[in-house]
Amino acid sequence: MQSSTIEKNTEADISDDFPLFGKLQSYEHEQIVVCSEPDLGLKAIIAIHDTTLGPALGGVRMWPYNNEQEAIRDVLRLSRGMTYKAAISGLNLGGGKAVIIGDPRKEKNEALFRAFGRYVDSLGGRYITAEDVGIDVQNMEWVRMETKYVSGLPKAIGGSGDPSPVTAYGVYQGMKACAQKAYGSDSLEGKRIAVQGAGHVASHLCHFLNEEDAELFVCDIYEDKVNELADEVGAEVVDPDDIYGLDVDIFSPCALGGVVNDDTMEHFKCDIIAGAANNVLEEEDKHGQMLLDNNILYAPDYVINAGGLINVASELEGYVEERAHDQASKIYDTILDILDYSEENNTPTFVASNILAEKRINNVGQIHQIYTSDSQFSGHIGELYKNASL
Ligand code: NAD
Repeated sequence: MQSSTIEKNTEADISDDFPLFGKLQSYEHEQIVVCSEPDLGLKAIIAIHDTTLGPALGGVRMWPYNNEQEAIRDVLRLSRGMTYKAAISGLNLGGGKAVIIGDPRKEKNEALFRAFGRYVDSLGGRYITAEDVGIDVQNMEWVRMETKYVSGLPKAIGGSGDPSPVTAYGVYQGMKACAQKAYGSDSLEGKRIAVQGAGHVASHLCHFLNEEDAELFVCDIYEDKVNELADEVGAEVVDPDDIYGLDVDIFSPCALGGVVNDDTMEHFKCDIIAGAANNVLEEEDKHGQMLLDNNILYAPDYVINAGGLINVASELEGYVEERAHDQASKIYDTILDILDYSEENNTPTFVASNILAEKRINNVGQIHQIYTSDSQFSGHIGELYKNASL
């Protein structure tokens, strides 16, 4: 990573004529791998954004994209977000992500995921995969049959299991940090909080919020899901279209990305936006600035939702649940640092977090590769020295 990408990586860079190398340069990606097995129906793309800090770790998403451009755009944005997420969370990991084009309700099978696993394996550890939207633990077990470069496996076979509880815990901590900044107290008691989505993360989050006696409003596109969650946590169910305009203190996006956009912006009455969804800002520069101008505190998505990455990353070192929780609780301090930086420099919070993440990548990237007794020479030099007794 050479320089701040903040100014360069605007949506305006994404042109409609779709020059692939232009896109890779625009986001500063290292590599993109297109995986095709027509007989099995596999159409997947693996994007490796930056491996300065370590191997690229990021989930694989299965989604019925309308076209290939949409899939490429998604995988490029998501993989770049993983680089920043790992960096700001203090992890020695790079950023990567994969997408499989297909309908997860109809097109999942063993052969498809094993074929994907072989492509992951072919990268020799440069990319480590895990679960994302549309993927479950069973699918990861199929991937594991072909490669060891996979994380987020079931606890029963030594993995870390579902990352959602740790993600939700991190979001809860980040939300409290925002409350501390906005209200001078991190108590969420009596705060009116609108949660978009009633999925895995949202459910765990609502339980934390309910324990603190927050007043909850929830929505989902599936009525049965939202009714069940509302019953559990005593929340009021609202129509998905009405969630943006509610008179609440905090809006928590926990469904899909792009929900802070030109259409929704004028409806927000909240002081804080803090949730689990990735790529919350439809256009980083434009909508990040608008939130600052409207005095809405925004907890950058890749910072506040890093609990899931922290969880799967700890699986690589031998999973200890308590340690993953401890690490996720640090999201509170990281968010506060970002909010302080944003205030002191009158800059959007996503800019502040990008600067802090890039600082770590650039500093670590500058560590000189001086020779130490454990250093390994590679390539031609390695061949020359491999039998030498030094
Ligand atoms: P999930 O699929 O369990 O839940 C998402 C929910 O959102 C579903 O119930 C879906 O019906 C609902 N939804 C979709 N569109 C909606 C809309 N327009 N309005 C209201 N509800 C809508 O997913 P999850 O694992 O809970 O993840 C939620 C978000 O958090 C995703 O964006 C994901 O990328 C992100 N995230 C998740 C984790 C994790 O550990 N699971 C980690 C980091 C980030």
